Formats: sequence, C-alpha cells, structure tokens
Amino acid sequence: MLSGWREITARGPWRISAKLLIVSSVVTVIGFSAICVNVMLDMRRGEEALARQTLENLATTIESDISRNVEIYDLSLKAVASNMLLPELTTVSRPIRHLILFDHATTAKHFGAIQVFDAGGRLTIDASTLDPLPEDRSEEDYFRVHRDNPGQGLFISRPMLFRGAYSIVLSRRISDSDGGFMGVVAGSIHFSYFHELFDRLKLDPDDTITVLKRDRTIMMRRPFDLDVIGKNLNERQTWKADNLKSGGAYAGQGPVDATPRLYVRSTGSAPMFVVAGKPLTAVFEIWRKEAYRIGAVVLALILFMLASTLVLAREIHRRAEAERKLEEMATTDALTGLKNRRKFDSVIDVEWRRAMRQKAPIALLMIDADHFKAYNDTFGHQAGDQVLVGIAICISDSVSRAGDCVARYGGEEFAVLLPDTPAANAFKVAETIRLKVQGWSDDQAMSTVSCGIASLVPAAGMDWPVLVAAADKALYAAKAGGRNQSVVASLSQLSLVA
Ligand code: GH3
Ligand code: MG
Ligand code: MG
Repeated sequence: MLSGWREITARGPWRISAKLLIVSSVVTVIGFSAICVNVMLDMRRGEEALARQTLENLATTIESDISRNVEIYDLSLKAVASNMLLPELTTVSRPIRHLILFDHATTAKHFGAIQVFDAGGRLTIDASTLDPLPEDRSEEDYFRVHRDNPGQGLFISRPMLFRGAYSIVLSRRISDSDGGFMGVVAGSIHFSYFHELFDRLKLDPDDTITVLKRDRTIMMRRPFDLDVIGKNLNERQTWKADNLKSGGAYAGQGPVDATPRLYVRSTGSAPMFVVAGKPLTAVFEIWRKEAYRIGAVVLALILFMLASTLVLAREIHRRAEAERKLEEMATTDALTGLKNRRKFDSVIDVEWRRAMRQKAPIALLMIDADHFKAYNDTFGHQAGDQVLVGIAICISDSVSRAGDCVARYGGEEFAVLLPDTPAANAFKVAETIRLKVQGWSDDQAMSTVSCGIASLVPAAGMDWPVLVAAADKALYAAKAGGRNQSVVASLSQLSLVA
C-alpha cells in the first residue's frame, strides 16, 4: 500500500550469487562424476582386454597342442592307408605286416590302437594284437562317411565310447589306385588326453575350456559334464553363431550354464578349436573393488561439497535478507512507512535526469499539515503522530503509477514526485490528496493539508532543487491563501527560481 516506488536493492545480486553457487556446484559435481565414471569405465575396459588376451592365449595354446597331436596321429593313419596298398603286404607274415604298418606314435599314451576295417566294415588288422576278435563297424559314422565320400580326408567322430573308454575316433579312407573303397583305418584319442592337458593348467573352478569341432560339436569340456559332450551348439537358440568367430570374444551367458562369462575363441584354423571362458565376476573382481573404493570416496566428496554449498547458500541468503532489511530501514521513515528524505533525494536525482533526457515534464507536490503545531498542542504528540500516519495513507492511496514516489520530507511535510506529469494532472492528484485528508479527518478533530505544486520540463543547466523550491513557493502561497488548498507554481515563480 505504501510502496509506490520499487527499487533495486542488494537482494537481487545476492540471490543471483547464491543461485550461481548452487549451479556451479551442481555443474562441478556432474562434471566430476562424469570424469570418474569415464575413468572407471576405462579401467574396466582395460581389465576386460587383459582377460581377453589371457584367455585367447590359453585357448590358442590348447588348440595348438590338440592339433599337433591330431596331426601326429593322422600321419600314422595316412601311413597305414597308403601302406595297405603295398602288394607285398599279403605275402609277409603278420608280425612283419605289423612292423610295416604301425609306427611308435600309435602306441603313445592316450592314443588307442589303430584298426583297419575292410570294405564291409569288418576288423581285419588291429595294432594292439596279431589275432583281433571279429568286429563289425559298418554301421558306425566313421565307416559310412568314408564309404560314401571318397574325398572326405581325415574324419573326426563325435565323442563316443570306443573300446570301453570315452574317445574321439579319427579315421581315414583306404582307397585303391582307382579310388575304389577298400576300407577304413581308424584310431582313437582317449579323453584322458584332455583331462591330463587341462590338469596341467592352473585354472579356477569356474573357468571353462571347451573343445569344439568345426561343425560346433562339443568334443570336450572342462568342467567335465557328460551331458554336454557331443552336443552341437547350433541347436542352442541362445548361442548365436556370431559369438564364436575365430579370435572373437563374447561376454554373457554361455550355451551350457547360466554363469555369465567372458568367452574367447582360439585363433588357429585346426579341425578342432577351443573356447576359454572366465566368469565375469572373476574378470572384474579387482576392478570392482577399486570401483567401490573410488566410488565411495567420490560420493563422500560430492556429499561434502553439496552440504557445504547448501550451508553457504543459506548463509548468503541470510545475509542478503539482513542486507535488504538494513537497506529498507535506511531508506524508510519509521512512523509512516514512506520513503525518507534521503531516499527521496536520490530518487528525484535519478528521475530529474531521466526527465531531462526524455524532455518530459516532472511534477512535485509539497504537502504540509495545516496548523499542526496547534493540533499537537491540543491533542498531544501521539495523536499528532496518528494524523501523520493517516495523511501518509491518504497520499499513498491517491498515487498509484509505477515510478511515482511518496516520501516524508520532514516533520509534518510530505513530498510526492510524479514523473512524466504536467501541472494540470499534478494539480488533480494534489486535490485528490487534499480532499481525501479532509474527508478522512471529518469524524475527528479537523485536520487539513496545503499543497504546493510545480511541474516543469528540465532544461539544460537546471537542477532539481529548482523544482523543490518552486513547489515550496507554491506551498507558501497555499498557506498564505488560507490553507487547505492546492496551488500550482506560476510561470513567474518557476522562472524566478530558475
Ligand atoms: P502551518 O499551517 O503554517 O504549517 O502551521 P504549523 O503549525 O503546521 O507549522 P509549524 O511549522 O509552525 O509547526 C510544525 C509542527 O509540526 C511543529 C511540530 O510540533 C509538529 N511536528 C513536526 N514533526 C512532528 C512529528 O513527527 N510528530 C508530531 N506529532 N508532530 C510533529
Ligand atoms: Mg511545516
Ligand atoms: Mg504545517
């Protein structure tokens, strides 16, 4: 009600700096967190790359061991297949035939005895004995494949029970000089070979080594599980072909069990390849511990920073509020709540210059309570104070435009600054105030005000005391004219003061 003039206090800038502090803290926290997350992800990628390299080396080493043994064994099979065509073989004794056909490689540990089957699948020669018992293998895959495909080469069977032991059967076709089918030479690699190979490696219980054929049949797996041996991964819907490209890696659930692992395939091109797997929990164990440690420290720092920011922001706000109150107290008249004389002087200074720039009229009303000394003497100082408050309310209620400024000029004298207002309009405002005071005081002891009005367009070289002096002169004229009236400063008065 009493505020005609809104000014910029220190509150604005203070608020901005509190907000700036919070915004800069939040931006710092976000930036800091982003950097930390990035560093931790980099560390994680590093751990994964290291594990991948280790697993790839392991898989490739196992693959080359297997392929070397298969190759050695295959050389023996090839030798038997070609020696079977020697015409002398039918003429020599059985022991001599054994010596011609089988070298020492075939008697190596983990390798089964080489056997020769005729075109009908019947066992004819066995490296382990001179008198083999009759056997018919015509229904076995490794026999039929060679019988039906002359170009088969080395055939590696699915894992099977062969002569009482789990083995992989390796076989080759025996063809005569015209390519005619003469039978099959077969041998086996026992699973004990793989067991011994894997036992030599230092592996964690949940690490996996899977040996697969090119058609993705599982030949052997560690940990050993008969249920998955011989299964083909192509049948597993969840395990996509892309996951097992040569030298490729895949992180996630594998085809056999639910444990998420990092699986890496060997890089060789042997008939059998190897996939080594390590549980992701083990791969990232060190990283996870480090991430928790760094994360906890960063979180504590962030919380500390946010808490400090909040405390600081509250302090800034508290100070801004105190500043605003001080500013208000320094510019407000305690009795009426209007602007005080000091504030009025600074406002008129600003408005005067603005009016000068805009070549607009600026009006000033000087309002003085009539016979106030007598009022005080009659009704007491406190009653006089109440009248001053009443007059202040009447003035404030009559002045509503933004930019208008109502002030207590001193004692029982008030000043109203009306920017951009010609004398006629200022006179109307003065009369409204005067009549309002008169009307308000009707019920009580009569109190009235006199009004001096001056309005002018500031000219170059003029200063605002000119306006005050003119309004003062008009006020004297109003007093002299009998009080309770408004008087506009005449042109002569204006030119006089100017
Ligand atoms: P005039 O009509 O010629 O203005 O007569 P006046 O009595 O109002 O003028 P004068 O200047 O002789 O007296 C002003 C009086 O106003 C003197 C003082 O007692 C009184 N006054 C000034 N400030 C205050 C105030 O804050 N409270 C009260 N109650 N009275 C005040
Ligand atoms: Mg006076
Ligand atoms: Mg007076």
